[in-house]
Amino acid sequence: MTDHDQVLDAFRHQVKSWLQTNFPPDLKDKGMQMLKGDVRGKLSGDAEIWRGRLAEAGWGAPTWPLEYGGGGLNHEQAKVLNEEMQLAGAFNPIPIQAGMGITMVGPTILEYGTQDQKSRHLPGITSGLIRWCLGYSEPNAGSDLASLSTKAEDQGDCWVVNGQKVWTSGADISEWCGALVRTDPTVKKRDGISLLMLKMDQPGIETRPIKLIAGASPFCETFFDNARAEKNDLLGDLNDGWSVGKRLLQHERASQTGNRMTGVKSEPLQAIAKRYVGTTAEGALADPDLRIRLANHLMDARAHGLTISRIAAEARGNVEVTAAASILKNSATGVAQTQAELTLELMGMRGLGWEGEGFEAAELANVRTWLSGKAMSIYGGSFEVQNNIISKNILGLPETTQKG
Ligand SMILES: Cc1cc2nc3c(=O)[nH]c(=O)nc-3n(C[C@H](O)[C@H](O)[C@H](O)COP(=O)(O)OP(=O)(O)OC[C@H]3O[C@@H](n4cnc5c(N)ncnc54)[C@H](O)[C@@H]3O)c2cc1C
Repeated sequence: MTDHDQVLDAFRHQVKSWLQTNFPPDLKDKGMQMLKGDVRGKLSGDAEIWRGRLAEAGWGAPTWPLEYGGGGLNHEQAKVLNEEMQLAGAFNPIPIQAGMGITMVGPTILEYGTQDQKSRHLPGITSGLIRWCLGYSEPNAGSDLASLSTKAEDQGDCWVVNGQKVWTSGADISEWCGALVRTDPTVKKRDGISLLMLKMDQPGIETRPIKLIAGASPFCETFFDNARAEKNDLLGDLNDGWSVGKRLLQHERASQTGNRMTGVKSEPLQAIAKRYVGTTAEGALADPDLRIRLANHLMDARAHGLTISRIAAEARGNVEVTAAASILKNSATGVAQTQAELTLELMGMRGLGWEGEGFEAAELANVRTWLSGKAMSIYGGSFEVQNNIISKNILGLPETTQKG
């Protein structure tokens, strides 16, 4: 064993023993279920105790700097932590409690924020005590984000914001919002945008939840009527919001690559297939057409997983993301949507129930997964828009759309 392996092995032992002492056994294998009704609010009971212990150790945001409440771990150590948490049936609730904080706004503050902004905002994110939402999309600015018209005016002692955002995930339960706003309407569209951080609890901001087909209301219309933002809450340079905002989107895509730990051991698709469709005398899946499509999907999923592991291993910095995130986002979307479609098909009529005792919990859950999975090819930049980015920024093909 090399010195390097020995150090990593010692870290693994440290994590194991920390988990034995600190992870409440009642939460084992509960994953997101441990959040129960609290998924849209604050945690309570053992889940809150567990959040507090994780935050204290900095392991809610393992690769973030120690000074802002992160764990200061390198990628190899973070991988070990991840593996040991999975073995222990533990789940990290902090990224969910922080909303868009851990995955998007926080890494952007780390990169572009002033020292004051880092000290004020990051500890609330790494502890999972402050939830962030993201105000990008507007009724007339989705894929063509540069057309956004919500404006912020410099009033000397503060910014005053007026306009409307839409599809703002978690706006009704967030404490802070990172919003793209127009700060100079006289220049080219992309040159007059800035990224402002606003406190949500103020009279000038109203949120109206929108209900989705899968039953939940995860996002809102958000109205700004003379809302206030402090002068020191402009993230990055004035009118440089297009660059800062694009960087944040890369972080968003990187977080949507499917490399997430759910804390719940789900039944492998092969086992579901055999249970519902039956097997031949040799033990193969009875339906040959399904067998081929299932095998293709499993190979795609495996190739996607291995590619993510390779990219993580190759990443030089802790928060390094590149345009390759667009490829991974599209591939994660394809894998997740195909998995939900196949599961539905395998379950047949039993996979189409919405409620009722005649259906198993996993069957009802899959219908919701299938429906909510439709959003994956829309949020964080649609499937087609990612393909545009791949063609321009990775393949070097000429830009044909979205000039502004
Ligand atoms: C579940 C969910 C959560 C979301 N959360 C947030 C959030 O928290 N904050 C936020 O700001 N936004 C959020 N969004 C909004 C999301 O970013 C937008 O829906 C997305 O960018 C697409 O914009 P749009 O809905 O206006 O569709 P449009 O831009 O109108 O696109 C409509 C269709 O046209 C296609 N299209 C558009 N332009 C092009 C082009 N140039 N080339 C090829 N095809 C094109 C698109 O691919 C799409 O199929 C969320 C969306 C969903 C579904």
